[in-house]
Amino acid sequence: MKEYVKCLIIGSGPAGYTAGIYAARADLKPLLIEGLTPGGQLTITTDVENFPGYPTGKSGPEIMQDIREQAIRLGTEIRPGIVTKVDFSSRPFHCIIDDEHEILAETVIIATGATARWLGLESESNYRGYGVSACATCDGNFFRNKEVAVVGGGDTALEEALYLAKLCKKVYLIHRRDEFRASKAMQHRVFNTENIDIQWNCIPTEILGEKQGFIKKVTGIKLTDTKSNSLKIIPLDGVFIAIGHQPATALFEGQIDLDESGYIRTQAGSTRTNISGVFAAGDVQDPVYRQAITAAASGCQAAIEAERFLLDQL
Ligand code: NDP
Repeated sequence: MKEYVKCLIIGSGPAGYTAGIYAARADLKPLLIEGLTPGGQLTITTDVENFPGYPTGKSGPEIMQDIREQAIRLGTEIRPGIVTKVDFSSRPFHCIIDDEHEILAETVIIATGATARWLGLESESNYRGYGVSACATCDGNFFRNKEVAVVGGGDTALEEALYLAKLCKKVYLIHRRDEFRASKAMQHRVFNTENIDIQWNCIPTEILGEKQGFIKKVTGIKLTDTKSNSLKIIPLDGVFIAIGHQPATALFEGQIDLDESGYIRTQAGSTRTNISGVFAAGDVQDPVYRQAITAAASGCQAAIEAERFLLDQL
């Protein structure tokens, strides 16, 4: 059986739920398909201090639960499931849920997010949220006057190191080669920041930590120096992994314009994609800010743009 909707939202992070809030209030009766990680990346974080409206901070899963409830209360239909196929060649757009259920959608808001790349160490996943993070803007504040490491050599790693250097006593910047791929301007700033200590040719092999009951904390990092083929241990309090992000766009390849890193291209200052009626919000189209609040804001934008698009079709 085919089902017809005015607005289909794919993805359930801050962008998707906020798009739901705005689309429901605009009477678009949105249907939101939650995907593999309902609630998105915030559901795998611990405390969030920088989302407005929570003066003493709140856990990521609780914030997402609040936004989800708000979207439902205002009229968004939220369904579990995965969008397994899309066809954007004509409108209404055809989307298949869980390989069987066909939806015809007048507008689609893609909010499938992006995931941080991780090193893949067991110790890294053990301490994720307990001293291992992939976002300095989100978690840097927990490490004021402490010693931390940033792993990576691209613009994100150097930007995170510079941000953390203002808060932390010392920042070890750990890179697997002997030159950075980051822009020269960023490199120049890093080389001129006294409390950044660059560890060239080093590969992390283990994140060290302690557990006391339910309390866990990072105490250091073990590195292999590939030049001297030696091991070293650096005692520290936190590790920020900044080795790139992977936007969740495999489903849209060949259907919509993606940039060279796989992010959906949107028009400047807008969530419009190259397909009229298809909008993209949140981290799936944002390689730069990647914050819950910027994702929520672009979800709002996408819903407003979908509403205006439908009005223009009348
Ligand atoms: P990049 O892909 O540019 O860099 C990833 C870095 O991580 C590389 O230095 C890479 O090393 C290293 N790396 C990858 N895998 C591993 C691994 N398994 N172990 C150790 N190190 C690893 O990602 P970014 O997130 O830095 O940047 C993505 C895009 O966003 C870029 O185009 C960047 O310019 C842009 N950007 C721009 C900003 C700005 O203009 N302010 C800010 C942030 C990002 P290697 O170099 O050896 O491959």
